[in-house]
Amino acid sequence: MYRVDTIVARATAAGRAAIAIIRLSGPDAVTTAEHFLRSSRALGGMPPWTLGRFSAVDPADGHIIDEVLAVRMAAPRSYTKEEVVEIHCHGSPVVVEALLGAAMLAGARLAEPGEFTRRAVLNGRMDLIQAEAVGDLIEAPVLSGAKAAWQRLSGALSNRILAMRSGLLSILSNVEAYIDFSDDDLPEEDPGEQLAALASVRVDVENLLSGFVGARREREGYRVVLAGKPNVGKSSLLNSLLGFGRAIVSLEAGTTRDTITETVEVSGFAFVITDTAGVRETGSVSEALAVARSLQEAADADILLRVVDGSRPLDEADLRVLGLKTQEGAELIVVNKSDLPTGLTADDQQKLEAMGCEIISASALETGGSDDLRNTWASTAGALKGDAAASAGLGRERHRAALERASAAIDDAMALMKGGDGAELASIELRRALTEISGITEALDNEQVLDRIFSNFCLGK
Ligand code: GDP
Repeated sequence: MYRVDTIVARATAAGRAAIAIIRLSGPDAVTTAEHFLRSSRALGGMPPWTLGRFSAVDPADGHIIDEVLAVRMAAPRSYTKEEVVEIHCHGSPVVVEALLGAAMLAGARLAEPGEFTRRAVLNGRMDLIQAEAVGDLIEAPVLSGAKAAWQRLSGALSNRILAMRSGLLSILSNVEAYIDFSDDDLPEEDPGEQLAALASVRVDVENLLSGFVGARREREGYRVVLAGKPNVGKSSLLNSLLGFGRAIVSLEAGTTRDTITETVEVSGFAFVITDTAGVRETGSVSEALAVARSLQEAADADILLRVVDGSRPLDEADLRVLGLKTQEGAELIVVNKSDLPTGLTADDQQKLEAMGCEIISASALETGGSDDLRNTWASTAGALKGDAAASAGLGRERHRAALERASAAIDDAMALMKGGDGAELASIELRRALTEISGITEALDNEQVLDRIFSNFCLGK
């Protein structure tokens, strides 16, 4: 249970701007704000959901700091279901600091990252999927990702999970009825009916899982990895590719990864490009570690670009690169330096063609020399998109793991029920499946789940 105190944070991004918004939530939100907001009419006396104009004063000396607009949102019709106050001040870091300080002097506590949304979950305003969707909407790299996040925020995925859950519940109650009252006057048990119902839940689970990778790509962007031996032109290609894409502000500020990732948008898809060359150049990792990491990165890639230098014959190192594979993505071959006379032998050409994947020739140094590569990215992403709609946006590892555990429990329950007299054991498996599925939308008294979900949130959200 959380402490029902009043929290405060800036809701807008740090830095200078025209306007900044400070948000308070908790039982004393209004009285806290009244400590430093002056007007002919107190904030608490104003109708809710109406902006009022106030002088914000420094409690230390009573001097006015800023003229602000403030609104109160009365519980329970607010984001957190608590009393909420939003103060729109000038976007000056000094003013914001002073107002946060004034709120804290009046008894509010600085909110933890994600704490407003966490309260929204704890107070039943939204479930876990919806809370994650708030984060996804804010972090969406491209518009399609934002739209998909909005769908989840409005409950599309939650409803699918709830339907599954109620299906399982009714199967479970039927199975348990026969265990508890098997000697009474219940009609002859027909496991066929429960098995059919269970099979249909199982299909739902499979459908959700089948769209997982597509939904994950939509949410995070497509992971593009450039692999190739030194000097084939990976960095030059990256620069050339970044040149035409719209660079997206890094979404990973403050992370400790020592690979360099850049996100670009091409044809409405977000591509997160990992520059493995960056690892090599830092010199901070041993060769063995770098190789292991490249292998892992290649395996995790959605689009793996295996780059060779077309102006020279292939060597052993090239062949090793060409042997790299992804787990669930697509592999392409890029023959770079097409501006130079080809150095590939007829045998090399045959080897490349025998690999059966798309071969794109490119020149990182010529204008437009990577256009074909860019177009191939977009078409590959389109082909890899899969049916994200089938999964209703279920694209987090947390969801996938829970569904996979649920699916295994359902399989076990079905096997036991088919066996005839395993109803008691089957009901244990069904309960297990139910707990897994419920855990996707509910925190089930588990603070750790909440901690993990909200640790990635920004302050004030
Ligand atoms: P990396 O080690 O794979 O990242 O390779 P770099 O991008 O650092 O390139 C190695 C060298 O090849 C540099 O001198 C580049 O200028 C050159 N280079 C890269 N791409 C091309 C290309 O398409 N054509 C030509 N002629 N030179 C290239």
